[in-house]
Amino acid sequence: MAFRDLREFVEKIETSGGLLRVKKEIDPNQEISAAIIKAGPAAVLCEKVKGYDIPVVANLFGDREKINMALGLEKENPIEEYLKRVERLQPPIEVGYGPVKEHVVTGEKVDLPGMLPILVVNEKDGGRYISSGIIVAKDPEFGYNLALHRLQIKGKHRAGIYMSELQHLHLYFKRAEERNEPLEIAVIIGCDPSLYLASVVTGPPDLDEYAVAGALRKEPLEMVKCETVDLLVPAHAEIVLEGRMLPHTREKEGPFGEFSKYYGPEGERPVIEFTALSHRSRPMYQALYLGRRQRENVYLTSLPKAADLYRAVKEVAPEVKDIYLTPGGCGRYHAVVSLKKRFEGEPRLILSVVLSHRIGVKHAIVVDEDVDIYDPHEVEWAMATRFQFDRDSFFLNDTPIHLDPSSAFKRKTGLLTSKLGMDATLPLGVPYPQVCDVSKEVMKKIEDNWQAYLEG
Ligand code: MN
Repeated sequence: MAFRDLREFVEKIETSGGLLRVKKEIDPNQEISAAIIKAGPAAVLCEKVKGYDIPVVANLFGDREKINMALGLEKENPIEEYLKRVERLQPPIEVGYGPVKEHVVTGEKVDLPGMLPILVVNEKDGGRYISSGIIVAKDPEFGYNLALHRLQIKGKHRAGIYMSELQHLHLYFKRAEERNEPLEIAVIIGCDPSLYLASVVTGPPDLDEYAVAGALRKEPLEMVKCETVDLLVPAHAEIVLEGRMLPHTREKEGPFGEFSKYYGPEGERPVIEFTALSHRSRPMYQALYLGRRQRENVYLTSLPKAADLYRAVKEVAPEVKDIYLTPGGCGRYHAVVSLKKRFEGEPRLILSVVLSHRIGVKHAIVVDEDVDIYDPHEVEWAMATRFQFDRDSFFLNDTPIHLDPSSAFKRKTGLLTSKLGMDATLPLGVPYPQVCDVSKEVMKKIEDNWQAYLEG
């Protein structure tokens, strides 16, 4: 059963023992980030936030279990199940009224820093940032787009935004700018978890992420009209902002601590003027911590991106078993592929698909299915004992990538990166030393009767 809103999901996490309540007053200036770091995989609900009467909830996707809980996925490695769901897109339905309209302010009354407990996430960020806002926009040809983009607060109703050329919102904005028009946007802060997962899904520009969210929750979203822009937003969202991205306007934005765990540099970037703010009664502000000790952002982005990649790989290698985008690779730069190899050269076929895929993997390794791809020691062991650098790897140079610091600062080619594919599978039909282990039967006997062995 789908979660209707953020509150139901938070309740479910708390019932399952995965939520910590912070009861002492806490400062949104870095203290909430520090509390999230301290909480490890647990979700955090800050009840008393200094200067505000709105609680902050964060770290709702702090491990893979919570991603599965968010979508009601049953398997431990749920890619196949996830893909089956997103095949059945469910476009949203419009309703007349939703709780997000319980409080509405427009025009000069909009005061983002005065009304919302917006965090300073990391020490050297350029100011207060909304990092958990799902930006909604519409293009005449491509339809709706939803994505997470950082927003730097620049006044009561003004913010700077970062978009990379590889992202759909950038395309939407450039097209609006060519028409000399502002791009209308809405920002969703706090909503049912399927929307957060849909907002990080990779796909073609005309993929409607609202319909993806409907597919993930197996029920269409209920939507209401915005007050000041021509967009639909979820009826059960906690907080919704409305505004316009101004054409031909650029202002200083940044720096901001990013998913890469480095500060993304300052630059001249587009600006949003906000025209309305609506929220539920007693809203919750959902925050997202990005930085050196992040967890949530990695697990949030990893499954949708791995699934997108898996679908492409499966077209050339039907016996692909699973794909993991590792936390160390920031949930996107490093891919480990589990394969039941059918013929020599198949891993290279897979690697060429992985390295050219839109999710932007830098380093990819293919291993046999006896290697646990979720255990970094196992993957390293395969690399140590089944891989010869000179014959089992290849490069792809000077390809575009999103926010990889080494692409900008270690290469003269600007934002281009070099990619590496590694085949750590065993050769077929060649005698190879066998992996050593005790017999399955003996291991099972010890496992099943361990207490008895200890007690004598
Ligand atoms: Mn999109």
